[in-house]
This record gives sequence, structure tokens and C-alpha cells, in this order.
Amino acid sequence: MAPRDNNNNIDLSPLREPVTSPYSNKFDPMSNVSSFQIIDSTLREGEQFANAFFTTQKKIEIAIALDSVGVDYIELTSPAASEQSFNDCKAISALGLKAKILTHIRCHMNDARLAVETGVDGVNVVIGTSSFLREFSHGKSMEYITNAAIEVITFIKSKGLEVRFSTEDSFRSDLVDLLAIYQTVDRLGVNRVGIADTVGCANPRQVYELVKTLRSVVKCDIECHFHDDTGCAIANAFTALEAGATHIDTCVLGIGERNGIPSLGGFLARMYVGDREYVLNKYNVKALREVENIVAESVEITVPFNNYITGYCAFTHKAGIHAKAILNNPSTYEILRPDDFGMSRYVSIGHRLTGWNAVKSRMEQLQLEILTDEDAKKITQKIKQLADVKALNLEEVDILLRKYHTAKLTDNSHHNVLEKILTHDHLLAGMPVQASA
Ligand SMILES: [Zn+2]
Repeated sequence: MAPRDNNNNIDLSPLREPVTSPYSNKFDPMSNVSSFQIIDSTLREGEQFANAFFTTQKKIEIAIALDSVGVDYIELTSPAASEQSFNDCKAISALGLKAKILTHIRCHMNDARLAVETGVDGVNVVIGTSSFLREFSHGKSMEYITNAAIEVITFIKSKGLEVRFSTEDSFRSDLVDLLAIYQTVDRLGVNRVGIADTVGCANPRQVYELVKTLRSVVKCDIECHFHDDTGCAIANAFTALEAGATHIDTCVLGIGERNGIPSLGGFLARMYVGDREYVLNKYNVKALREVENIVAESVEITVPFNNYITGYCAFTHKAGIHAKAILNNPSTYEILRPDDFGMSRYVSIGHRLTGWNAVKSRMEQLQLEILTDEDAKKITQKIKQLADVKALNLEEVDILLRKYHTAKLTDNSHHNVLEKILTHDHLLAGMPVQASA
């Protein structure tokens, strides 16, 4: 039943947009959906992407582009990885960017000593705690891991740097071991503890439970790192923030080991829906496309067609019923406003699913003012007829509209124009053609 006002009249005020979902955790006191920080790891995790090889110059270019997006931190490959990696850490730390510079090291004193020499703002320390890693990778006991953590963290803190301590493969680690070591490093005064879904096995419910539990036992910030092997990475990141995490790792275009981690653009799209004001005030989302282009070119991939925000069809509307609603109010089918991201909306009209409202809107854009709604409907039928054989591009739609318009304007022969166009060739021919051709 239609809503009614106090006098029992039907309320004719325009329908309001649904600004929040009934499932929103907006008032969850733990939630950091409106206060998160981004640690972009394109220059660390991203270097583990199959195609990646970044020269020093390219790393600097990417770091500057990331800084103009406004990411809070830029994480770099360990200086222990190679001599060039060491020099790159120094070079990027010396750029004086707004973003803080981190490097990512094993929980090892030699690595820690190298890290502090590079001039970074902070060190992300990682060690594997899962039974798989303890058995098949480094072969260390929890006691050994704890002692190594204490030594390395104490050293980094003594140099006045930020320090994060993270476990690798956290979701397949023993919960009691995990919480014990996080509590130990929290007492040592780490800035952040990190949870890493190194193998991409976690789902949002598991993430919520683990982060919430961790939130209740440590005082420091919580950073999360999710791999996307099963398509949950961005959802996991969002859920982690709802449960009290504070920092999320991303990579431009989601590159990384195997199929990567949350893409910077995709994560920002998700967070924009959570808190548009926070995202737009803090991050320069219009600079996303630039950094994506630099990285895509550098690692020899193209930006995927369905990429968040910048994919070529991210703001393309096709179905006639969608096009009509979009033209009336874009929010009907758009949760992201393209102009916020420096992008444009495109309504695709040259296909058999088209509708006359979209065709009419194109007539208005072309300022074909003498054409009526009736004309738009007739032209739409012609587009559908032609597009049943092959879709028309926008240029072809425009030719049809202009031919029709010119005929109506000059000698009112516009109906003949439609009758004579039976194929794409007829449409494109400069001259009227025989219907039987
Ligand atoms: Zn990773």
C-alpha cells in the first residue's frame, strides 16, 4: 500500500534513495569502516606477481603515483632480497613522500639490521606459525618463534621505527599459539599485529571471528592481508574492518603472488559504498586510473574489462529498462558515481535490448530538437531490427538519427528514410538505396 500522510493522503514525495542497508553495521563500536588505513604493497607483494619486474625508476614512478592516490603506507620488498632491493628501499625512503615507507622482512636479526639502514619509516616483520610452515618450511618451534620475535621487535623499536609483527598463514595456525604470540608482541609495544591469509582460504565469517577475538586480546592496531585464491579478498578486508581491524593491505590491480590480494581500486570502491565522505576526503580516487595504467604497462597486462571503477564496462548501461532508469536517476543502477572517480557513464543504445528513452536521450545530446517521442520510438524499432543482425556502434546510431533528422527537416521524408534502411550497408551508404538491394 502506498505510504499516507497524517491526513490520509497518499504521500507523493519522491522515493528516497536507500542510503544505508538494514544489514549495515554502521553503529558497531568495533567497526573501522570509517577510519581505516591502506598499506599498499604493489612494490612488495606485487613484485611477487608472475610478470613483475620493476626497475628502480619504475618503482619510484609507482611510489609517486601511489602517493598521489593518498595511500597511507607503501610497502617495499625486503632489503635482504638483493642488493638492488636494498638500494631501492633507500631511494624510495629518500623521496620524502607523504605516505610512510615500510619494508617487509623475515623475523631475523640480519634482515632487521639491513632494514633500519635503509631509512624506512617502519618495518613489517613476518614469520610462519602454521603447522605446515613449521613442519615443511622453516622447521621452528613456537618457543623459537617467540624468542626471535622479542629480539627483532626490541631492536627495531630501539631504532625509533614503527614495527608490525605478523604471522604467515594465520588461518591455519593454532589459535592458542597465535593469540599467545600476539599478546607477547603487543606487550613489547608493536604498532600493529598482522593477520595474513597467505593461502586465500579464509571466508568473511572466519575473518570476522578471528579479528574480533584478536581485537579483544591486543591493544595495538591490526593489519590484515588477504589472498584472493577463492574470490573473497575484498569481502574479507571489509569484514576485518567491521570486526576491528585498522589497516588493510592492497596492490594496484590486485597483483601479487598467484592471483594476488585486494586491488587498491576494488577495495576503495567497497569502502566508498561504506563511507563515501571518508574515502573522498582522504583519498584522491581520480588518480587511480593513472597508477593502474603505469602498473599494467609495467607488468605487461591490460586493465581487465570488469575492473572495479576503471574497467571499460564499469559504468556502461545496456538493458533498455536500466537505461531509462539511469537517465531518470543514476542511483537506480549505480552505487558508485562515475564523476567521483573522474569517469563517465555510458549508455549503450545500438543493440536489440535498447529502449526508446535511451535513444531519445541521445537525440537530445545531439540537439536534434525537432524529433518527438514518436520519432524516438520509430527509430528505436529500426535499431532493434538492424541490431538483430549485428549491433550498431554509437557512430552508426548517430548516422541513423542524423539522416532521419535531416529528412524531417528538409522535406518531411523521414518515414522513407527508415523504410529504405534494411541493412548496415544501407545505413552507411551516402545515398538512398533500393529496398530490394
Ligand atoms: Zn601475500
